[in-house]
Amino acid sequence: MRIRANNPGPMTLTGTNTYVLTSQDDTSAVVIDPGPEMAEHRQAFLAEVADRDLAAIVLTHQHADHSEMLGSIEQWAPEVPVYAVLERFARHTEPVADGDEIAFGPSPADVLRVVATPGHTSDSISLIHAGALYSGDTILGEGTTIVTHPEGSLRDYLNSLDRLRELLDAGEFAIIEPAHGERIDTPAEVIDYYRSHRLERIEQVKAALEQGASTASEVCDIVYHDVDPSVRPAAEQIVKAQLAYFDALPAADA
Ligand SMILES: [Zn+2]
Repeated sequence: MRIRANNPGPMTLTGTNTYVLTSQDDTSAVVIDPGPEMAEHRQAFLAEVADRDLAAIVLTHQHADHSEMLGSIEQWAPEVPVYAVLERFARHTEPVADGDEIAFGPSPADVLRVVATPGHTSDSISLIHAGALYSGDTILGEGTTIVTHPEGSLRDYLNSLDRLRELLDAGEFAIIEPAHGERIDTPAEVIDYYRSHRLERIEQVKAALEQGASTASEVCDIVYHDVDPSVRPAAEQIVKAQLAYFDALPAADA
């Protein structure tokens, strides 16, 4: 079940998706990305959990539109373990890492498998359950995602896309449930598009550097000249990630 928070914006698309998955025997549940601190959103996903045992909360990465609600967890789920890569978010359990399995019910099928997909941020994970990939911000329901700087890494991101493509080809998942936007029924197409889009941008940045651009702002003026002013800060961040990829980040931008 997907519950969308009412926090639409240029970076969140229609809002953050919180997912509530239930165990096969329907007695327990897990929440993926509790989302922004908004009372009505909390009520909405807790209503979905209903009287089931909330066995786990999983965070796909650190950004506030996914994690902020954890700030009030003492009030709504004080005993529930929180699984996250970063120590500061993990609660009543160790930080998670690639390959970990998060159980949320009595059946062996009631498990989320952690796939480390760093890039958007270094702590980004995706989760596989029942043929679906819960991708956080690594893959979005529309457009492409940003590689943040300095939390993220373009090299890691490209490797993560390759890894997801391999897992898809191996039949590990067939659909993608992103943290923003709608379900993706054509994952191969989308992953390949993300990859070619990133490589195309890398070529454009290379060309801009060859034309003499030397700061993130100058590169941004050339490569992202057509973006809406509301996403200019995001464009500058991704340019910094691209320059870091080329080892061409001027000290002033680091
Ligand atoms: Zn994010």
